[in-house]
Amino acid sequence: MPSTPTRQIKKLLIANRGEIALRIHRACHEMGIKTVAVHSTADADAMHVRLADEAICIGPPAAVDSYLNIPNIISAAEISGADAIHPGYGFLSENARFAEIVELHNLLFVGPKPEHIRTMGDKIEAKRTAGALGLPLVPGSDGAISDLAEAKGIAAKAGYPVIIKAASGGGGRGMKVCTSEDELETLMQQAGSEAKAAFGDATVYLEKYLGNPRHIEIQVFGDGNGNAIHLGERDCSLQRRHQKVLEEAPSPVLGQEDRERIGGICARAMADMGYRGAGTIEFLWEDGEFYFIEMNTRLQVEHPVTEMITGLDLVREQIRIAEGHPLTLRQEDVQFRGHAIECRINAEDPRTFAPSPGLVKQYHAPGGMHVRVDSGLYAGYRVPPYYDSMIAKLIVYGTTRAGALRRLRRALEEFVIEGPTTTIPLHQALLDDPEFQQGEYTIKWLEEWLARQG
Ligand code: ADP
Repeated sequence: MPSTPTRQIKKLLIANRGEIALRIHRACHEMGIKTVAVHSTADADAMHVRLADEAICIGPPAAVDSYLNIPNIISAAEISGADAIHPGYGFLSENARFAEIVELHNLLFVGPKPEHIRTMGDKIEAKRTAGALGLPLVPGSDGAISDLAEAKGIAAKAGYPVIIKAASGGGGRGMKVCTSEDELETLMQQAGSEAKAAFGDATVYLEKYLGNPRHIEIQVFGDGNGNAIHLGERDCSLQRRHQKVLEEAPSPVLGQEDRERIGGICARAMADMGYRGAGTIEFLWEDGEFYFIEMNTRLQVEHPVTEMITGLDLVREQIRIAEGHPLTLRQEDVQFRGHAIECRINAEDPRTFAPSPGLVKQYHAPGGMHVRVDSGLYAGYRVPPYYDSMIAKLIVYGTTRAGALRRLRRALEEFVIEGPTTTIPLHQALLDDPEFQQGEYTIKWLEEWLARQG
């Protein structure tokens, strides 16, 4: 296998904010790497800005003018003499053009090769590539679909209901479920015009709509030179409006054999692709079968549950791969131990989900054995209203799932955030539900549960 020449990172610019910026900073300092924080004027008091070795303001609060402002971020890297950029998640993390520009400036991009970000960013191209690499797909059209007669044929073959999806879609938007042939024409047109309005691209495709699946995703890592491993799965079925609320690893429904089979398929696919860095292959899972839906070419919010059960620091691994090192572990060295659960804690009303930014009057994070809190909060901090409402992630580990649930309950009891209202009570109520306790839930379960709470 050809190897990449290594280039040591001495100073890394973190092109993100919030808990993930702090998470990346921590990995860097543990590796002896200096950090450069970039921030909007609204984030001057953020924890990662305080802790970083250097901080540079890159613009006003609106993300388009700051965290998405490529020229300002590149200038900050040049002024500070950083030799690498980590994009975190969201913002520019899946922008292939940004990755290219970073590399054109002779900076290391802590992420995949730009061409792989581009391929996976287009859902039709991603599905075609995934199929060619041997990943199991949801039955449906082979590519874009515009002809009604052809769509009818494909839908009849897949069986109703079917789902019409936008090629450039994201965040659960641009999708239409179609239950019969007479609705197909209207819904295809609607999906196309909504996609055009939202993403500037009317291209749609069609696939079978799975009635009640789970969302199970596989964490992968590649060295960019044809070697790749998988780090097992995360079950992210607990979602509200396609947003994940709580994630766990391993999935309550997968056995070791299932894990090795689907993980092996994913790792081989990434090896064949020459994939570099961290990635997540998302599947819907129903009746024991996996169906590829998309690949995220970045670190995920929920990566800590994988860290908890494998003992591997995923951000450190990303940085080492960017430096040109081989993978730390061979597949046979990856061991899964125990059970981990992550709660996303948002500054939102736990019933109406209305955002609740503002001053944090009191703050006390839980601690103790196997409890981890990733958050930039502190007493006196003001949660700005301009960004995502997630303010903390609570991650717990237990040798068994039941033990992890008990620890989670204990940790949530200790958590004090006064000022903004948070979704902590939602997580506490979830923990009391017998179906959740049994791990019996699908992607529809949480919304039905919320409706029952009234
Ligand atoms: P996005 O990039 O917009 O998040 P995804 O393809 O990841 O789009 O799909 C988002 C969500 O939509 C999935 O988590 C699932 O809840 C639902 N979904 C997508 N495709 C299907 C399908 N074929 N059958 C049933 N539900 C689906």
